[in-house]
Amino acid sequence: MARTPSLFVSHGAPSLALEDGLSRDFLLSLGQRLGKPRAIVCVSAHWETPAVNVGLAAHPETIHDFYGFPPELYQLRYPAAGDPALGRRVLQLLSGAGLPAVGDETRGFDHGVWSPLILIYPDADVPVVEISVQTRLDAAHHIKVGRALAPLREEGVLIMGSGSTTHNLREIGRTGPDGGPSEYYAAFEKWVCDAVTQGRTEDLTDFERLAPHARRNHPTPEHFLPLFAPLGAAGDGAKGEVLNRHFEFGTLSMAAFLWA
Ligand code: ZN
Repeated sequence: MARTPSLFVSHGAPSLALEDGLSRDFLLSLGQRLGKPRAIVCVSAHWETPAVNVGLAAHPETIHDFYGFPPELYQLRYPAAGDPALGRRVLQLLSGAGLPAVGDETRGFDHGVWSPLILIYPDADVPVVEISVQTRLDAAHHIKVGRALAPLREEGVLIMGSGSTTHNLREIGRTGPDGGPSEYYAAFEKWVCDAVTQGRTEDLTDFERLAPHARRNHPTPEHFLPLFAPLGAAGDGAKGEVLNRHFEFGTLSMAAFLWA
């Protein structure tokens, strides 16, 4: 079996699944490009825990973890199955790598998981294991998580991160003078895209120090950290491909990254 790619997507606003636009079109086309993996292990920005938590429910509920959106968004369900056996294997791989990890038999899918996947795999016929992000730990920790899970790529499992390439909700709508992205966000996004395509894993891991305006782009790190599990699963120095390189609301990059 060929090695399954690893993937990071920017999931945008929770209403992404309902709103026409470039990102919705991109995600709708992505499933065909990726083909259908046997299963997905997805790190979500919207599940923050001190140690890695791994969803073990056989039939995870759809969690509507947002407020003030149109009623039809709360009607959406993503009925993909869980994969408890794969979840237990994830736990084994993590503990084998010296990373404390905990199973959660009741956790559903938050919108970090289902809002992109409802577009990528709308038939919900690929089982999904969600894992959490550790905001008290750094990018290097999340690289280790990805490295530990890399063997799953040989078994048809897609290692995925769902977050946002830039994420400062206080500056949503602040565009540059030409109506395009604000310069602080464009500079950070360019740095990240260049580092991904050039395979600069170490630089990315040190983004808080090296990337321009890192703190302004990510006042809190939870939406950027999901990048590092697929990056770690890709292997040190692996060169990624940048997909869907555009901004919404002037400051929200929707860039996605794929490592073949
Ligand atoms: Zn989010």
